[in-house]
Parts: sequence; structure tokens; C-alpha cells
Amino acid sequence: MNSPTQIDFDQIDQYGPQTFSRTFDVRAEELDHSEIDSVGPISLEVRAEKGDLPEEYIVSGTVSYAADLRCSRCVDPFPFANLSSFHLRYRPRPEAAEREDELEITEEELDVESYDERSIPLRQLAVDQIELTLPMKPLCDESCLGLCPQCGSNLSREQCTCNTSMVDGRWDALRGIREELEKKNQ
Ligand SMILES: [Zn+2]
Ligand SMILES: [Zn+2]
Repeated sequence: MNSPTQIDFDQIDQYGPQTFSRTFDVRAEELDHSEIDSVGPISLEVRAEKGDLPEEYIVSGTVSYAADLRCSRCVDPFPFANLSSFHLRYRPRPEAAEREDELEITEEELDVESYDERSIPLRQLAVDQIELTLPMKPLCDESCLGLCPQCGSNLSREQCTCNTSMVDGRWDALRGIREELEKKNQ
């Protein structure tokens, strides 16, 4: 039996809840994220069933993967792994006329997706979930000191000599501000 590549709402109507367990290979270039070096296989576990409303379907499950990301401060590669769960409600896309009344989206409806087609490609679902779980500004460590803006040394690993002059520069700027204030107060 071929394993299905998509969630088919008609199948759910006909046979009841459906479960899927799939692994996908994804290339880093497929993800809209510049700080990914490489990404390992994505494991997707999904259960899809009818919702409470007519034509509504609930798609929930977990996605897990490991990736090599680049620190947004020091650009060192570091390993990242994520396991997260999702819970989505698919409803038919409202007609243009109906949509007028639905402009206000309440907070509990943020997980609602509108569908035009009565099927959801599993691979796209997995990729979308990864996009959501990747950190916007990946850090090798919360305390990463980043690179020296002058010589490019990784300040978490080494201390460069320009570091001190930069600090001095900041003090000079502060001193300047203080003198300005003192002048004003006189
Ligand atoms: Zn770093
Ligand atoms: Zn430096």
C-alpha cells in the first residue's frame, strides 16, 4: 500500500479519523531562514479528524527535527533540536461576501486555517511547522558575546585589545553627555 502524501478530507468523511507518521528530507534552502546550515530529517506525526462545525477538520500532532544553525551574534554553527506540537483547525475559506463580517478574528481563532482544496500536503505541513519553530535570532548561548565590531574576534572565546578602547570610547561619549548636562544646569 502506498503511503499517502496528503491529508484528504473526503477520506475522513468516509472512514473517520486518519493518522499519519512520516519522515521528510528537507534542504536548508527550502526554508525561508538564512541562519540554517543544514537540517536533518523531519518527523511528522499527525491525526486528522472532523471538527465540531460542518466542513471543519482538526489537524493535530507533533513535528521534530534537528538542525545546524548559525548563531546570529558570533556566526558559529551550533546544533539545534526541536520537538513541538501543533493543533490546527481547517475551515472552508469564506465567500467574499461573508468575509466582510468576519474581519474581526478573535484570539482563539488564531489557529484557524482556511482551505480551498479538501486536502493538505503532509510535506508542506511539516515545512510550515518548522518555519514556525525556528528561532528568529538563533543564539549559540544566551550569553554569547558576539564578534568584536573592530577586529572580528569571537569575544566569547578570546579577548582582543580593541575591546578596551571601545569601552573607553563609550565612557568618553558618556562624559561628553554629562558635561553637556552640567552646562545646562548651571
Ligand atoms: Zn554565538
Ligand atoms: Zn577586537
